[in-house]
Amino acid sequence: MDSFNFNQYQNIVIKVGSSLIAPDGRSCSTQYCLPLASFIKKCQHLDKTVTLVSSGAVAAGVNTLKIDHSDLTLAKKQACAAVGQAKLINHWQRFFDNHVAQLLLTADDIKHPKRHQNARKTIEQLHQYAILPIVNENDTVATAELKFGDNDNLAAQVATLINADLLIICSDVDGVYNDNPHQNPQAELIPYIEQITDKTLALGKPTHNAQATGGMVTKLGAAQFASKAGINTIICNGKSEAYTSLLEHKITGTFISSNKPYNQQNKPGINIINA
Ligand code: GLU
Repeated sequence: MDSFNFNQYQNIVIKVGSSLIAPDGRSCSTQYCLPLASFIKKCQHLDKTVTLVSSGAVAAGVNTLKIDHSDLTLAKKQACAAVGQAKLINHWQRFFDNHVAQLLLTADDIKHPKRHQNARKTIEQLHQYAILPIVNENDTVATAELKFGDNDNLAAQVATLINADLLIICSDVDGVYNDNPHQNPQAELIPYIEQITDKTLALGKPTHNAQATGGMVTKLGAAQFASKAGINTIICNGKSEAYTSLLEHKITGTFISSNKPYNQQNKPGINIINA
């Protein structure tokens, strides 16, 4: 059986959600971001290019402006995102000696050919400067994103934009389960998904975390999008630093295979569970 080899991945997009950046309502917490930044630096030392898609702007703004969470209109969320985005970038910058860069995109930017090309070229140039691009959705204009938590989808779109070979979605659960692990202690983790089907998508349940806007279903949708573009996805627990096992060529979480033909990619050495 082939074994998973992290060396084969050179161009990685990592998505980190609000539940890790603002755990228990503490916005811009170092608790889970510091180990993730250390992992990113290790990847960079291994000559991999990394692009970070980071949520957390709204949570940072809510905390800064001390806005009541239960009374967030769209305009209030957008104002919070505008304030919080600056905090968020400063937060990430603290962990890196080199500069980090902020890119705010909308789905329209990615659809529009010229803007698509400009965004790709900007990210490529930043990689050449060894600067970490940090992407978030432009919440001022992308109103639907705030309602549906599309940063999972944004991460898949960014991965496609830059021809990434791996998308790592860091969540607060260990991966995809065959039932909701918060409700069913017997639920089992699915380590490998060959192809996302409607049955797989039905495994996604709404998120249990108040800070997060997406659930497993949006992550699976993102993985499906990436898969169609030939990109493998790993959904793993950022709280337990599950991504660090990748440095030892092990997957702790759920690996979702891309639609690339079998002979064009290495398959991880784990049992296939049909979901
Ligand atoms: N763009 C939003 C933020 O930075 C979050 C969207 C999401 O988590 O999916 O707060």
